[in-house]
Amino acid sequence: MNAEIIAVGTEMLLGQIANTNGAYLAQQLAGIGINVYYQTVVGDNPERLEKVLKVAESRNDLVLTIGGLGPTEDDLTKQIVARHLGELLVVDADAKAKIDSYAATSGKNKTPNNAKQELKIQHAISLKNHNGFAVGDLYLNQHGTSYVLLPGPPAECLMMIDRELIPQLKKHGDQNRVFNSRVLRFVGIGESKLVSDLADLIDHQTNPTIAPYAKAAEVTLRVTASSTDKQQADTLIQGMVNQILAIDGQYFYGYGDDNTLASVVVNQLIDRKLSVTAAESLTAGEFQSTIGSVPGVSAVFPGGFVTYANEAKHQLLSIPSEVIKTQGVVSKSTAIWMAQQAKAKMQTDIAVSFTGVAGPDELEGQPAGTVWIGIAYRDEEPKAFLYHFTNGRQRIRARSVMAGLDLIRR
Ligand code: ATP
Ligand code: MG
Repeated sequence: MNAEIIAVGTEMLLGQIANTNGAYLAQQLAGIGINVYYQTVVGDNPERLEKVLKVAESRNDLVLTIGGLGPTEDDLTKQIVARHLGELLVVDADAKAKIDSYAATSGKNKTPNNAKQELKIQHAISLKNHNGFAVGDLYLNQHGTSYVLLPGPPAECLMMIDRELIPQLKKHGDQNRVFNSRVLRFVGIGESKLVSDLADLIDHQTNPTIAPYAKAAEVTLRVTASSTDKQQADTLIQGMVNQILAIDGQYFYGYGDDNTLASVVVNQLIDRKLSVTAAESLTAGEFQSTIGSVPGVSAVFPGGFVTYANEAKHQLLSIPSEVIKTQGVVSKSTAIWMAQQAKAKMQTDIAVSFTGVAGPDELEGQPAGTVWIGIAYRDEEPKAFLYHFTNGRQRIRARSVMAGLDLIRR
């Protein structure tokens, strides 16, 4: 089943408020296997709303409107949808009782505007409003497009989605269908490369579906399958996961929404009883702060160094000034010295170091994004790797941290 969400409201059209209701609704629909193919925003204008309804109806099984169910003149969504469907508006007894009782207890006279909010589309199922007056509608059409009308105020809209709409759609849909999804996490690959590597799979997806999502310095894929049987959904997911990993498995590091690279790496270190420290220049402590966010890290992380200026590298890490002078601060040698000295001073099994150009200006003739990451592991020869990151100072620093974690993991 595919759907279109139409947000009605001039404030949204003009960019004064964001369509947060639409975002929430799309997520909840995805959770019950309804694919949102389109989201449209239209102002409070009857002709244009009617045009949008016609287009939406021509290309969707389900059309959901948000907004314009209120008491005022410009709230016209229900009147227009009813006219479009050739349906009458009738009084919803529960909504009327609620408005009457409010008028009685508040001592205010009920106005014709108030009465407008009692109306429902005749052959629709009413969706109760737990946070306001206007009643919502679910107009089911077995042979054509079904309609849903939701109120605009977020407190009313979200509650109606959760308590009324989703349960009703489940009840009238395929009750036996289950949805399962698994999140795959990748590091060291950008979203665009991952998506182009998997283009064939993504283009031909039906069940399971694949949804990529990029965060600061990593990418996740959500693979969702639906089936009448949980085990079969799992099998479908596993089949798709195998295909994905056959292509980009080298960048894959874990499953799940909450398994950040930092938590995977720290837990690995805890399991293997390996301690770690860091010497950070351009990341200025971000690596240590990141591993510090993982519970239990104290078992493997005694502390480390933030050595931003050359002088600090000399004083805190005893790196000979000659090294930095002759080799440069953005260099393999400096990265290796930093890792080696940090490891020796903190007496850990592992040390990682970061030195490079966060930008925006270049340094030592090297462009922003040039980063050396050093790693020293026990008695092995320390190593350093060169990276070229892009997209501004914060991204460069965040990606450096991820790359450092990735080196430890390997
Ligand atoms: P009301 O009874 O308040 O008139 P309504 O159902 O007629 O409710 P609108 O008038 O369209 O809804 O919107 C009411 C308020 O709700 C808007 O001013 C806006 O702040 C908010 N709103 C409307 N639509 C959305 C949306 N899609 N996402 C987030 N907020 C919204
Ligand atoms: Mg309104």
